Amino acid sequence: MPPTLYIVATPIGNLSDLSERAASILRAVSTIACEDTRQTRKLLDHLSLHRPLLAFHEHNERERTPELIARMESGESLALVSDAGTPLISDPGYRLIEAALEAGIPVVPIPGPCAAITALSASGLPTDAFYFGGFFHSKTAQRRKQLEVVGELAATLIFYEAPHRILEALEDIEATLGARQVVLARELTKIHEEFLRGAPGELRETLSARAAIKGEFTVLIGKAAAGSAAAMPQVPLAEAVAALEAQGVPRMDAIKQAARERGMSKREAYRLLHP
Ligand code: SAM
Repeated sequence: MPPTLYIVATPIGNLSDLSERAASILRAVSTIACEDTRQTRKLLDHLSLHRPLLAFHEHNERERTPELIARMESGESLALVSDAGTPLISDPGYRLIEAALEAGIPVVPIPGPCAAITALSASGLPTDAFYFGGFFHSKTAQRRKQLEVVGELAATLIFYEAPHRILEALEDIEATLGARQVVLARELTKIHEEFLRGAPGELRETLSARAAIKGEFTVLIGKAAAGSAAAMPQVPLAEAVAALEAQGVPRMDAIKQAARERGMSKREAYRLLHP
C-alpha cells in the first residue's frame, strides 16, 4: 500500500466497540502515534497486538509533525489514535493532517466511536441539525459568552465538560438560555452509563444530591425553537407534580403528565423526584 496516514477511532469506554477494520489497520501500520502510550497500550494488549507506539499530544504536536511526515515520505504508513474516540474531535492531530495533505500523503479515516454523536443518537433531542462546540470554557464569563453566541441556533447544542465543572455549566446554561431541555450523557458505553434529562435546575438538584459527581459528561441542549424557555414549562417538576396532586390527580398520573410536558419519560421524572 502507498504510505498513508490512518485516523483511527477507538472506544470511548467499551473495548468491544473497536471495529475489525480499525484493528486490522492498527496491526498493519509500522507505528501508532497516540496521546498517551500507557492508555493505548491497554487497548493493544486487549487485542494482543504489539506495535511500536509514539507519543503525539498537544504539547509535542508541533515538533513531532515533521518527523512523522518524514517517516511517511520514506514509505511508512502510520496510524493516529487518541486516548478515546475519534482523533481530532477535541483531541490533537489537526496540524499533522494539514501537513500530510500538503505533502501529498493520503489521509484515510477509520470511523468509530465519538462521544458527541453517541450521546446525540440516544438523547431524544432533535438530530436534524446540531452544533458541536467542543469543550466548554473553564471560566464562567467565557462559558456564558460561548452559550450566548450559539444559543439561538435552530440546532441541538453539544459540548464536552469535566465532572468538576458540570454544576457551574448547568448554572450558566440556565442563566443564558433559560429552562431549556438538557440531556447529560454520562459514562457512555461503560458500566455506569446514564442519561439524565430535564431543565438545568432539575439536573443540578439531582447531581448535587449525589455524594460525588464522577465520570465523563457530554452535555446536550435542546434547540431554541422547540425547547426554548417559552416552550419549556418554567415550574420545577416537583412543584408541577404537587400542584396536580392538589387538584386530585393521582401521584403516578401527575408524574406522567408533568413528564410529558417536559419531554421526558415517566421513569426519568420518577427518578428525578426520588433520587
Ligand atoms: N475524541 C473524543 C471523542 O471522539 O468523543 C473526545 C475527547 S475529549 C478530550 C474527552 C471528552 O469527551 C470528555 O471530557 C467528555 O466530555 C467526552 N467523553 C469522552 N468519553 C465519554 C463517555 N464515555 N461518556 C460521556 N462523555 C465522554
